Amino acid sequence: MPSSVTMEIVPGIHQIDGINGNCYVIIRDGLTLIDTGLPHGSAQILAYLRNVLQKNPSDVTTIILTHFHIDHTGNVVELKKASGARVAIHEADADYVSGKKARPSLKGARGLLMNVMGRLFFRTPDFQPDILLADGDTIAGLTCIHTPGHTPGSICLFDPGTKVLFSGDLIRYTGVKIEGPPPQFTPDMRGAMQSVKKIAALDFGILLSGHGVPLKAGASEKVREFARSIQ
Ligand SMILES: [Zn+2]
Ligand SMILES: [Zn+2]
Repeated sequence: MPSSVTMEIVPGIHQIDGINGNCYVIIRDGLTLIDTGLPHGSAQILAYLRNVLQKNPSDVTTIILTHFHIDHTGNVVELKKASGARVAIHEADADYVSGKKARPSLKGARGLLMNVMGRLFFRTPDFQPDILLADGDTIAGLTCIHTPGHTPGSICLFDPGTKVLFSGDLIRYTGVKIEGPPPQFTPDMRGAMQSVKKIAALDFGILLSGHGVPLKAGASEKVREFARSIQ
């Protein structure tokens, strides 16, 4: 699949086109990837690095996963193999990717469908993460903010230099409005809403979510509005 269209959101931060969930690249001394999309996307991610950014796989030094779900971790094993990058995830989600804990079954009709689809098409091998994150850690210049609810170890990542917040699946921007995490994939909705309030207290300009499109201005105000609406 050709991948030659640049999707630079702010200088040095790209979204790789056509990867679902969203996969972001931060270009600093080394490259950092945030999330890796559903399985079968690694060739497209590597093509973007090569064709658009003129980089080699080995330039990727860190891969940060916002949580353990397959639409965020689907290509991490292949990308780690291709790059040699160190993989980071919050300590509370680590046991799900290493296979020590079973990935929970999903609820509802769509959840059941996803369970079956997951078993058939969307498998990823278990792996041992290299870095276990905790709230307040700094990784690749980003601040890790623990925002449990969608999963126990969901995180948001804040980049102080650009005032970008990477929100994983805690909140997303649809192009029209902010939404919370999908209820059928969120076992602890109350916890997630507490996490939304935690994020709403921060000051950021740009919201880059795990699904949906970039919100490029006034992001923290919009998130605060959303947080007030769920009181
Ligand atoms: Zn998720
Ligand atoms: Zn997702």
